[in-house]
Amino acid sequence: MQIPTATGLIYEAAMATGTVATPRKNIAYTQIETVDVADSYCWLCGGDTNGQGVPTKKAIKPTFTDHPYARGQGSQSICTGCAFCLSRREMRNYSILASPAELQHPSRAEWREILLDPPNPPFVCCLAVSGQKHLTFKAPVNVDRQRFTVMLEEQPIHVSPKKLEHLLDMVEELYVYFTKNEIITGNYSQHRIKECGIRQWGELEGMLEFWRGRPLFELALFVAQKKEKPEVKPVEPLPTVDCCGKGEDKAPAEQLTLNGL
Ligand SMILES: [Zn+2]
Repeated sequence: MQIPTATGLIYEAAMATGTVATPRKNIAYTQIETVDVADSYCWLCGGDTNGQGVPTKKAIKPTFTDHPYARGQGSQSICTGCAFCLSRREMRNYSILASPAELQHPSRAEWREILLDPPNPPFVCCLAVSGQKHLTFKAPVNVDRQRFTVMLEEQPIHVSPKKLEHLLDMVEELYVYFTKNEIITGNYSQHRIKECGIRQWGELEGMLEFWRGRPLFELALFVAQKKEKPEVKPVEPLPTVDCCGKGEDKAPAEQLTLNGL
């Protein structure tokens, strides 16, 4: 399989899809106007121009600040894919999932499912956080569904769906009670620890500690979805302890304090 460039794949996906639905509006993508160019490779992505593209003078606006990412210094041409991605504001404003058959602008909830079950390769994943930055030409093209790299804003994050699922299980258990900020910083409010149950919180937090600060943890938090709080179980009355010591195996509920947390 010949691996396309990220912007080339995104352009191909956009043309195959035509109109992409988002919760707010439908976005129609049409072909970009190109001209014959002399350079064989693209100034921005370094990919083949195939003799078609847009001169850098026209495609690169004065506000462009990503010059260090240019892989084809020396060329004065931008390939069709890069020219398309630079010309459409939606390519910065929305997250992008591109495969040859389809372009999508997924929500965080949709990303959660996509990252656990990605499309057939090749595919590109850009998760926009600010909606202001160019991510398209910074993203790698993925060719493996079990090991791939996504852009979370400008940070490339290597994903194994199995590891991500394991992390999501823990993060979403905590997210029932805590805010994402508490989970990412490890600074938990004491009253919410009580509500979660100190034992459950301690077990989950003990396992998550290893992941805190790692990029995959950040990605899991970004896509984590809120689950319903479980119904509060009625407190069972303590068993009556008689003089013969029956019921000793059922000790009163452990007294737990939050001191020192
Ligand atoms: Zn290019």
